[in-house]
Amino acid sequence: MSKSMIIIGGGIAGMTAAFRLKKAGIKVTLLENNDRLGGVLYSHQEDGYLAELGPNSILETSPLVTELIQDIGLEEDKVYANESSKVRYIVRNKKPVPLPTSPPAFIVSPLFSFLAKLRLIKEPFIEAWDNRYEESLSQFVIRRLGQEFLDYAINPFVAGVYAGDPDTLSVKHGFPKLYALEQKYGSLIKGQIKGAKERKKRQEVAKQSARMFSFRQGLKMIPDRIKDLLGSDVQTNISVKAINKKGDTWEVHTIDSEGKEQVIPAVGVLYTGRITDLHHIEIDGKIPDEITEMQHIYHPPVSVLVLGFRRDQVQHPLDGFGVLIPKVEEFQILGVLFSSSMFENRAPKDHVTLTVFVGGTRQPENAQKSTEDILALALKDLHTIIGVNGKPTFVHHTYWQQAIPQYNVGYGQYKDSYDHLEETYPGLYFAGNYRSGISVADTIVNSEEVCERIKKINRKAREEESQRAQR
Ligand SMILES: Cc1cc2nc3c(=O)[nH]c(=O)nc-3n(C[C@H](O)[C@H](O)[C@H](O)COP(=O)(O)OP(=O)(O)OC[C@H]3O[C@@H](n4cnc5c(N)ncnc54)[C@H](O)[C@@H]3O)c2cc1C
Repeated sequence: MSKSMIIIGGGIAGMTAAFRLKKAGIKVTLLENNDRLGGVLYSHQEDGYLAELGPNSILETSPLVTELIQDIGLEEDKVYANESSKVRYIVRNKKPVPLPTSPPAFIVSPLFSFLAKLRLIKEPFIEAWDNRYEESLSQFVIRRLGQEFLDYAINPFVAGVYAGDPDTLSVKHGFPKLYALEQKYGSLIKGQIKGAKERKKRQEVAKQSARMFSFRQGLKMIPDRIKDLLGSDVQTNISVKAINKKGDTWEVHTIDSEGKEQVIPAVGVLYTGRITDLHHIEIDGKIPDEITEMQHIYHPPVSVLVLGFRRDQVQHPLDGFGVLIPKVEEFQILGVLFSSSMFENRAPKDHVTLTVFVGGTRQPENAQKSTEDILALALKDLHTIIGVNGKPTFVHHTYWQQAIPQYNVGYGQYKDSYDHLEETYPGLYFAGNYRSGISVADTIVNSEEVCERIKKINRKAREEESQRAQR
């Protein structure tokens, strides 16, 4: 059997890598232990509703994201979010208030008090952190922008992105661009202005101004397309138990859903599964200590409730992306997306789709409740916040037991471990949402970077082989 590059895990990281490496002429085999590709990318169509059970959209923050979509031939199916999605609501005093997006809007916004706005004037004059210890996001924001900014901008934003808690997330590892702004420019405000010019040079787009997209039939079009492109190079319902290095060959020991075992020879192995699952795979007959440690990376549970309503059951104009909820407002849901306002084709005529997120680090116990209980608490909150009345016409509940890795204070230890393991076991690579950002876009970029390294090493090996043959 000729050796291939084995990719463990068929989420966006694994799919990107399999596609890219195959395109570069490297033989690949993608092993996925589920019966479908996509990982958390999972769209479901029923009764005229298009429900996203995991991520709802992708931000076009890097040209690598745009290129991937073009190269897999999905450009024509791509749909950008409606202009109105730029409006994000944050709850203040139990009601949604638009998050201001320009300095004049900020000055008149009721989201922040006069004192909180005044406090921002101080920001450019506050000294940069001397890194005496690693700061949490909360410590960083209170120091630079004040408590109210933490409560009404950062806390709800972090609940929306990480389902996480700014008190425990590391600013350095979870928000490296924010951290770098202070380290490089000494101020967030100054850095925001100067950084914009540098991003333009690198063709990068800041998250707040990046365009948001999905596809006509939802994000699931990515795994569907990549599965077609990979053909027999994908094996589903296969789990990897062990990998062993024999000379310059890796032997990958797998077991399928019927208990059948096989050993696949490989030139290398790229692990893109959930990082807390890595300790199920023996490497050269043992589980390295640093992998045992990785089990402690917290992934809070999240429940996603996709709800359909008749349009006349919702009072709010739903003219935006959705509503994020600060912890201090004491609701039971983390936020709600106006999914059918963002993208066409998400709900039947005269109906709307709302996607509600529950649990996360803030209230993990809520995510674990029954569908009935989660629905009850969601309907109560939605009634107060956006005036939802009556029973939904559609309900779909997805429970993600380990939703998103939290880059908490100290996360650098894990990042070092990924590098160290790659050095210790040449030919073993890591890519995924645990390495340099949790968004779909960050995960694609990380996977592309790791692929570049694999391609380089592969090229070098081929050159050496052909030189040997010529001698
Ligand atoms: C509810 C939710 C909402 C989100 N919303 C957004 C959003 O709107 N926008 C955004 O940009 N990001 C969002 N994210 C984050 C983003 O979607 C994920 O971080 C990213 O898609 C993760 O991709 P991945 O390939 O690293 O991991 P995963 O998608 O988790 O894929 C890993 C794959 O590996 C497989 N696997 C694991 N172990 C093995 C093994 N031993 N053998 C074989 N296969 C294995 C798993 O079955 C899985 O398919 C959201 C995440 C969640 C959970």
